[in-house]
Amino acid sequence: MSRILITGGAGFIGSHLTDVLLQEGHDVIVLDNLFTGRKVNIERHLQNPKFEFIRHDVTEPILLEVEEIYHLACPASPVHYQHNPIKTVKTNVMGTIHMLGLAKRIGARFLLASTSEVYGDPEQHPQKESYHGNVNPVGPRSCYDEGKRVAETLTHNYAQEHELDAKIIRIFNTYGPRMLFDDGRVVSNFIVQALKGDDITIYGEGQQTRSFCYVSDLVTGIKATMNKHGFHGPVNLGNPEEFTIMQLAEMILEYTGSKSKIVYQPLPQDDPTRRKPDISLAEKTLGWKPAVKVEDGLKETISEFKSRLEKL
Ligand code: NAD
Ligand code: UDP
Repeated sequence: MSRILITGGAGFIGSHLTDVLLQEGHDVIVLDNLFTGRKVNIERHLQNPKFEFIRHDVTEPILLEVEEIYHLACPASPVHYQHNPIKTVKTNVMGTIHMLGLAKRIGARFLLASTSEVYGDPEQHPQKESYHGNVNPVGPRSCYDEGKRVAETLTHNYAQEHELDAKIIRIFNTYGPRMLFDDGRVVSNFIVQALKGDDITIYGEGQQTRSFCYVSDLVTGIKATMNKHGFHGPVNLGNPEEFTIMQLAEMILEYTGSKSKIVYQPLPQDDPTRRKPDISLAEKTLGWKPAVKVEDGLKETISEFKSRLEKL
């Protein structure tokens, strides 16, 4: 059993990872500033002696004794990471330096949650890890895209110079229970709109594509990467099934039985046209691939959103 630190552990993905690691019997410390994370996501563990929550901002250093660090702290939705772009850069750059410095000092294994956004608006399809990306350094997404690119550079350099067992995963669009209603991401927006009978807001013509991975599949991939000793990545983790945003809207309308109508709004600047992971590296190296079909994952998510909305 290990002593594990999860930064961003009160957020969407981090809280699911926390559940699984505690279930496996590990000691888990969650460190989070609660910007987009919520106490309710980790509340059920507060009485567990193997669990600890520390309210802390990763842009400030901290000293802890752990064997593994999952570094997830960073807002993931465009609405949130654009709310304070300079803070987003600081979280990615200073936060990652602090966590890598900690890993080096205490000899912990380290995993950086990077993103498919490092590929920008990709000119290569599907995206392989060897593709260097097409990112605008001064656009509305750059605080996040470029922030994560520097975080990858730092992780790579620490691994090389300090012989740290540090890994980089590139997460593609992930969805599931506990996403915030007002998160601004497409799956949560469409489900909330459909359940409330509000208009479904498609940005652009809805022909842009994304590939959606259910959160339990992602958590399995994250753990598999951490547990692959000496493997640094970067490795893509996502579901390679690709859908247009229009198809996603139609699926959500069908599974909710909603009568909401579709409306069109302007496409945000630098919105990637296509995105789909090539996951052959993860399949070969980690023996990982997603198991949950989008239909099943969406139905699970819809049912959790429904019960949360009813409690409001
Ligand atoms: P989230 O916003 O739900 O979780 C992020 C967590 O980090 C929150 O709990 C937030 O409070 C915390 N946080 C933010 N800034 C912090 C700071 N300065 N100090 C301490 N805590 C801070 O997002 P998520 O979807 O769970 O994403 C988790 C990680 O995965 C992020 O690093 C994100 O970039 C990455 N990722 C997610 C997706 C996705 O589709 N969900 C895709 C690509 C990458
Ligand atoms: N999108 C949309 N309507 C919404 C929210 C998002 O059409 O209410 C689109 C958005 O323009 C993008 C895609 O859905 O093309 C995915 O958006 P999201 O913010 O979930 O993730 P990202 O763009 O970071 O992949």
